[in-house]
Amino acid sequence: MKIFKCPNCSSPAFFENTTCQYCNTALGYNHYLDIFEIPENFHDNTRGHLKLCSNHQWGVCNWLVTHNESSEFCLACSLNRVVPNRSDIGNFEKWQKLEIAKHRLIYQLLKLKLPIKSKSLYEEGMAFDFLSNNKDENIYTGHADGVVTILLTEADSVHREQLRKQMNEPYRTLLGHFRHEIGHYYWTLLFNDSNIEGYRKLFGDERVDYGEALKDYYKKPDSNNWKNNYITKYASSHSWEDWAETWAHYLHLMDTLETAHSLGMEFSPEEQHIQKLVVDKCPNPYSTKNFQDIFNASVALTCSVNSLNRSMGLPDIYPFVVPDKVVEKLTFIHNLLQSKS
Ligand SMILES: [Zn+2]
Ligand SMILES: [Zn+2]
Ligand SMILES: [Zn+2]
Repeated sequence: MKIFKCPNCSSPAFFENTTCQYCNTALGYNHYLDIFEIPENFHDNTRGHLKLCSNHQWGVCNWLVTHNESSEFCLACSLNRVVPNRSDIGNFEKWQKLEIAKHRLIYQLLKLKLPIKSKSLYEEGMAFDFLSNNKDENIYTGHADGVVTILLTEADSVHREQLRKQMNEPYRTLLGHFRHEIGHYYWTLLFNDSNIEGYRKLFGDERVDYGEALKDYYKKPDSNNWKNNYITKYASSHSWEDWAETWAHYLHLMDTLETAHSLGMEFSPEEQHIQKLVVDKCPNPYSTKNFQDIFNASVALTCSVNSLNRSMGLPDIYPFVVPDKVVEKLTFIHNLLQSKS
């Protein structure tokens, strides 16, 4: 995510800001041009004036929308199918957290030039359901036929940390959930008979029975023999999960590197033993063709920020080791998206 600019005073503006922290001007995000604007002030010939998305009133959105658009909601909010009742304060606060993560996801999908269609208008589109898990229903966070369901309890940080420990995961975040689940959705759009063989060579055969594979996975005693081929243990459960986990990591790396690029970060340690971490200037990953350049900069970036976090007694922001096989898979994703855009 890049750092934006206040159109009034040219100070830094951050993605979730609704007012400038320096001059107090009201701000909205113009996703058509990827800049911040003063709502209603902005005008261009194609879009006229822009107004704030209707969800702004609930404190969950700062995106702008044209007056002549059929929906009162912005691109990101128009993808919602079920959101919690606002009279339920607890769930409402959880929804606010989910929207922050979802807006960041949609921002990145735009950067990657991926199709973003609402299921309310297109059969092959996507939709989001934010649901509570009542005792008598079996509702899970997941993806099915374009619908991404996220359980509201995932927005409770205590509950999420308990699950993370229980599932023995090094990382569990809302943004991570969105990135993983949307990976399943894009799998259905990106692959067909003409390119599925290339996919299978790296990610295995997706025709293996999914339910059985997951059952087997949860039965398996703890083993570490996944570490040379997969980014996480869960990725070893089935080809589709390998894809979604690797896809999520691709999105993690691209977004963190865009932030570093926006800040003009570079790494030039003087000591010999850390010279491997030299990066002249972090590249803009969205305009970099060669994935190895992105990956090399990401290694320097994540090692550095992990070390900074440890200096504050915090866990690593990127608690993963990426084996060569996974670099191959990430390269495959990058090249595939380059060929589509
Ligand atoms: Zn300002
Ligand atoms: Zn919105
Ligand atoms: Zn999955």
